[in-house]
Amino acid sequence: MVIALQILFVLALIILIILFVFRISRTKRTSQLPENYKELLTDYVKFYRQLDEEGKEKFEKRADHFLSAVKITGVNAIVEDIDRLLIAAGAIIPVYSIADWQYINLHEVLVYPGAFNADFDQGGSDRDIAGMVGSGALQHVMVITKWQLRQGFINSNDAHNTAIHQFVHLIDKMDGTMDGVPEIILERKYVTGWRQMMETTITQMRNYGSDIDMYGSTNTTEFFAVISEYFFEQPGSLKANHPELYEMLERIYKTGI
Ligand SMILES: [Zn+2]
Repeated sequence: MVIALQILFVLALIILIILFVFRISRTKRTSQLPENYKELLTDYVKFYRQLDEEGKEKFEKRADHFLSAVKITGVNAIVEDIDRLLIAAGAIIPVYSIADWQYINLHEVLVYPGAFNADFDQGGSDRDIAGMVGSGALQHVMVITKWQLRQGFINSNDAHNTAIHQFVHLIDKMDGTMDGVPEIILERKYVTGWRQMMETTITQMRNYGSDIDMYGSTNTTEFFAVISEYFFEQPGSLKANHPELYEMLERIYKTGI
């Protein structure tokens, strides 16, 4: 009788411990994604829409992880669920095929409303007004404007996406220099070839114009960000118009594997 009671007591204790641990692990794993994230991602993010179910789940997990690691703060702007989700999407799209990628050089994204004059054009030399990657005191901070962030995803066929542009700058910066050569992900044997390809294309753009946004001809840093927007927004056109650039970007972003 006493033994039976002891067994019962031990069993009850084990059940209590299991319940307790389960509760802790559940409260610890709260999602950073808004409740209707599937709907929002499907409506606004073409890249996500084109993934299969398994791919979508991977994308969601990575977006959730990004949002739990990086603070997003509005500066005179209300940051809505859709803004947080689009920032996460801009972060994940370029590194989607790179396993275990972490933006260790980013702690916070500041969201500005984006008060531009009516004739502000996303193309052209003022392009980086739309966002920037911090340096000096703003190290580890990205600035992005809400208006441009949303436009980048709403117009998904124009080869422009400010969030992708800024995250590509961060990827480029990870090796210590922002120069258009992301040495952290590009195999060494391709570095010289990639640099030459960028310089040749920039010269051609300056001399003859191009279907690539002319802001990319500013320097190799901007070229890499601009051509990456093209690569992720209109891969078919880039492949048809610039097969060599396309092939090299596939190597960089590991998308061809
Ligand atoms: Zn830029």
